[in-house]
Amino acid sequence: MAKFVYDFTEGNRDLKDLLGGKGANLAEMTNLGLPVPPGFTITTEACKVYLESGTEPAALRAEVSEHLEALERQMGKKLGQADDPLLVSVRSGAKFSMPGMMDTVLNIGLSDASVSGLAAQAGDERFAWDSYRRLIQMFGKTVLGVDGELFEEALEEAKRAKGVVVDVDLDAADLQNLVAHFKDIVAKETGRDFPQDPREQMDLAVRAVFDSWNTDRAKLYRRQERIPGDLGTAVNVCSMVFGNLGPDSGTGVAFTRDPASGHQGVYGDYLQNAQGEDVVAGIRNTVPLADLEGIDKASYDQLMQIMETLETHYKDLCDIEFTIERGKLWMLQTRVGKRTAGAAFRIATQLVDQGLIDEAEALQRVTGGQLAQLMFPRFDLDAKSQTIGRGIAASPGAAVGKAVFDSYTAVKWSRSGEKVILIRRETNPDDLNGMIAAEGILTSRGGKTSHAAVVARGMGKTCVCGAEELEVDTKSRRMTTSDGTVVEEGDVVSIDGSTGKVYAGEVPVVPSPVVEYFEGKVDAAAADTDDLVKSVHRLMSYADSQRRLAVRTNADNAEDAARARRFGAQGIGLCRTEHMFLGERRELVERLILADTDADRDAALAELLPLQKADFIELFEAMDGLPVTVRLLDPPLHEFLPDITELSVRVALAEARKDANENDLRLLQAVHKLHEQNPMLGLRGVRLGLVIPGLFAMQVRAIAEASAERRKAGGDPRAEIMIPLVGTVQELEIVREEAEQVIARVEETSGVSLSLTLGTMIELPRAALTAGQIAESADFFSFGTNDLTQTVWGFSRDDVEASFFTAYLEKGIFGVSPFETIDKDGVGSLVRNAAAAGRATRPDLKLGVCGEHGGDPESVHFFHEVGLDYVSCSPFRIPVARLEAGRAAA
Ligand code: ADP
Ligand code: MG
Ligand code: MG
Repeated sequence: MAKFVYDFTEGNRDLKDLLGGKGANLAEMTNLGLPVPPGFTITTEACKVYLESGTEPAALRAEVSEHLEALERQMGKKLGQADDPLLVSVRSGAKFSMPGMMDTVLNIGLSDASVSGLAAQAGDERFAWDSYRRLIQMFGKTVLGVDGELFEEALEEAKRAKGVVVDVDLDAADLQNLVAHFKDIVAKETGRDFPQDPREQMDLAVRAVFDSWNTDRAKLYRRQERIPGDLGTAVNVCSMVFGNLGPDSGTGVAFTRDPASGHQGVYGDYLQNAQGEDVVAGIRNTVPLADLEGIDKASYDQLMQIMETLETHYKDLCDIEFTIERGKLWMLQTRVGKRTAGAAFRIATQLVDQGLIDEAEALQRVTGGQLAQLMFPRFDLDAKSQTIGRGIAASPGAAVGKAVFDSYTAVKWSRSGEKVILIRRETNPDDLNGMIAAEGILTSRGGKTSHAAVVARGMGKTCVCGAEELEVDTKSRRMTTSDGTVVEEGDVVSIDGSTGKVYAGEVPVVPSPVVEYFEGKVDAAAADTDDLVKSVHRLMSYADSQRRLAVRTNADNAEDAARARRFGAQGIGLCRTEHMFLGERRELVERLILADTDADRDAALAELLPLQKADFIELFEAMDGLPVTVRLLDPPLHEFLPDITELSVRVALAEARKDANENDLRLLQAVHKLHEQNPMLGLRGVRLGLVIPGLFAMQVRAIAEASAERRKAGGDPRAEIMIPLVGTVQELEIVREEAEQVIARVEETSGVSLSLTLGTMIELPRAALTAGQIAESADFFSFGTNDLTQTVWGFSRDDVEASFFTAYLEKGIFGVSPFETIDKDGVGSLVRNAAAAGRATRPDLKLGVCGEHGGDPESVHFFHEVGLDYVSCSPFRIPVARLEAGRAAA
């Protein structure tokens, strides 16, 4: 029989699929002997049954009863018992932490009947009514769906009436009145009374947690984070402990190290006489965790000890929620904590140095995405700038944008291409859309663990929070600084998530130290080098020692090639020759296209030849000793010709004036002739080579002559000639025959023997499907996954991202654009099969991939797995690809 409920003593941290992250870790802490209030977890399996069928599994009720009774026996009181009620929290907890997404209800079991029992037991009237009003508020909002603002307003009104500012100044009688008021709100809004039966409260709350899996907010977050939609959430029922029992009680959050920098120390926030979310909600000002030592030394010492136990046990940074009830410390949650990119690198190497993990494990603790973040530029601190405030450096980066004060505007403006900074007093889950749209997030309240900070770090978005001297007025869409400067909606601000500084206007940015290191401008071994650079260096070296995939770059000029080489490129995987035909050379191409006679055409080709050759000489020199894959001309010809409409107008006007010029007329004719409805599927790639006599021969000759010249100069050029857009082996055979003749002639005249290889791109479905045949005529394949994605899906990359991709992403048809991460099931399966078929024909066939996917972390893992030899990507993605190739192999 299926088991749907696990006591905290029954689970462990490996059961996250079943018990969710929170439940699995509560069980782990329980079994470590840490002080966790007893309770049990309802599994994700129960949730899945509920989500699929609309009702809880039949066996669930009895199983919950059984575990509840055991809990009651252990605690010596019954749920909601009038004279001494057992209270519980009902807490969601999915496999992946989803901050603020799912809802938790505290103090379940309180009712009109038991509130005085609780007061008597605790010897504290105020506490009992405070707990009751919290229950009705949370239950009303999350379980019964009442607008939370109504409760907030009632609470504000009670404080106003009394002339106080914080909730702790309300006394028992005030809170009792508030309870009555809250109950009225519930009755009025839902048409039913607040449920008085404790078990009914609990069951309704459990169901609400199940339901919360499918709120819009939760769905959006899952799509963002690529969390599958069918995992379901577990529900934890945990006996209550109370941080709101007076000044010797309180609640807090802590990190075992600084999640922003990775440095060791005491990090966290504590709030006296408070419960649950009060700390993160920014309702009252928290104190730094270090202050707890002065408030309650015994609990503080115990907490430090527990944090050390947890770090040693989890071998990683942990974050923690705890509560102190009258001097007794309770652990309410732990998990391996989120961290910034910089912290991830520092922590990984620190843990190696502490002997907690080895280098292979350290490599798994960092990602290419994090490395990419570290390569972002930072603000130029020497530049003139006007600091207007300072908050907490919650998530690093340098963000510049126009100030907006609500999510709606953030989304609207960013859609129209504006960069925006979302400025809020504090954020809540409803701001998620705006946070995604913004360059950065700035709040005037809340600490490192506030919603804004946690979510921004998760998204890798720049965030400064708790900039208290900034007065944020969302209603009138402006912010006022302490010296009276006003920032209106639309004014540009700059925020530095690494220092917490806020600037008026646009501050210039400088490159990151990590990029400087890759550029060879910073020595990782020097004593005064930032420990971040040292960590990056160590992990990169380790990744390089592990990876099987080579990493090449896409580059078509010597400068890019040289930079890529500094970044660790092991050759060029894609040199696009079309870039060599632009600018002044465009006219030569025009002449080539317009040539009426062989002589005209040959003359144009003859002029292009030395130019091409000079390009290649430079390129081969920059990549001396490493392979350079040169792709012969690929794009549709019309890209080199004038725009058809413009030209038509010009000719028409000239004709009207009776002075049409001969050349323009011919040009117009050619443009008409070459005009295509679907140029990307038209006359391009190998088709050009087959239709324009001499074109490919000229390019091959330039490559061969450049190689010969480099060889004579003592160099080691290693060109690979690549034919684009091949769909059938016959195309390749014709081109190859001609190329071989050209190469032989160059070898003869130069007296240098050239070992040039000739291969093809696999970027059409037909090429992938007939890869076995194509390999007969190819020395290598390079998967052109951009075009392959376009042609397999039938998507035009230039158009769809702006037109319907947003809708597709919103509907969850894919979690990420297939142009960003390879579609493993479709495009990927063609790649896998073509690689196998090609190698079956020619076991030494070299296999690579060029295009955006070559620098995408997830895709790199896929290419490793299907056995490619290399990936090729833009120079800046090279470190990312190296790291991920190492992670894939380690
Ligand atoms: P979240 O996933 O949003 O962090 P939690 O389930 O952790 O939600 O609970 C919300 C808050 O309530 C946290 O601050 C947590 O520490 C507190 N809390 C949860 N259960 C209890 C309990 N049994 N006793 C006291 N505080 C609790
Ligand atoms: Mg929590
Ligand atoms: Mg292509």
